Amino acid sequence: MSEPLKPCPFCGKDDGLYPAHNWPGGGKPYAIDCIRCGFDFTPREGMDVIEMWNRRAADEKGGAA
Ligand SMILES: [Zn+2]
Repeated sequence: MSEPLKPCPFCGKDDGLYPAHNWPGGGKPYAIDCIRCGFDFTPREGMDVIEMWNRRAADEKGGAA
C-alpha cells in the first residue's frame, strides 16, 4: 500500500476500507469497498482508485454536494 486511504466520506471510518485488486496483470486496486456502510467506490477503468477515493473524500468533507 503506497498511499494511505482517507476515511470513508459517508461513515467517516477508515478501518472498514478494502481495496479490491483484480486487474489482470496489474497491481493497482480497481475499487474500494467500505464494509462499514456498504459504499462501493468503483471509478472508471484505468483511473487511480486511491487518488480518486482521496479526492472524493476531500470533496465530501468540504460539504459540496
Ligand atoms: Zn463507509
